[in-house]
Amino acid sequence: MRPLIVIGNWKMNGSLASNQDWIKTVARGMESGMPSGRKYAVCPSFPYLPQCASLIKEYSLAFLNLGAQDASAHCSGAFTGEVAASMLKEVGCTYVIVGHSERRQTHHEADELVAAKALQVLDNDMTPVICVGETADERNSGRAEEIVCAQVAKQVSVLQDRLADCLIAYEPVWAIGTGKVASAQIAQDMHRAIRLQLAEFNEDVASHVGILYGGSVKPDNAVELFAMPDIDGGLVGGASLNPQDFLAICQA
Ligand code: PEP
Repeated sequence: MRPLIVIGNWKMNGSLASNQDWIKTVARGMESGMPSGRKYAVCPSFPYLPQCASLIKEYSLAFLNLGAQDASAHCSGAFTGEVAASMLKEVGCTYVIVGHSERRQTHHEADELVAAKALQVLDNDMTPVICVGETADERNSGRAEEIVCAQVAKQVSVLQDRLADCLIAYEPVWAIGTGKVASAQIAQDMHRAIRLQLAEFNEDVASHVGILYGGSVKPDNAVELFAMPDIDGGLVGGASLNPQDFLAICQA
């Protein structure tokens, strides 16, 4: 059985003071226990990873893992501004988001680069969270499934069996940060299509891979989304900045 996983993506937000408040509030909220069989993580910006790692330790937040928002496709060398997966591992990361649509759009990241980043993350014993998703135009022209399945197929062609150790996040671009959440049925249909696409490669891999939904997840829509058979949790942006909302989504 696949565990439910909730990952908060803080994007380019946070400060030393607000991170401390967030972790303190979440620690208090998780103190009385959390639903079993679930996993949680938070992905702050790179400079805050060591701070958050030590706060997680200080508050004995065994339930909460640390993640990063990106990693380099290279292992080391002359790549100014990039951060190697080995560095993320060293500061305590368990998860690394790759191919977020904001990076695909603003940094023109293509599927091949996303797969190369995922390989680096895997080689350093962490879990890549590979983001895929269609734009509003692609959905409106009836091509949503074709686009997303092509993105998944590219990952399959590079990662092969190693996909079993990855998470996929279906994040429709039109739903990210817009407040326009995909209906639970639209999300379920795409998650099913992704799983069938994976099954064409390997049924065992398909049944093991967690597929998270991302795009305007909030406490009031998480229950319905997470109840869907092929939705294995959420990648949560805006709502994860509020520790009470993050907690409510984790408990949904
Ligand atoms: C995200 O950044 O991955 C995301 C899903 O953002 P939001 O929840 O704000 O739509």
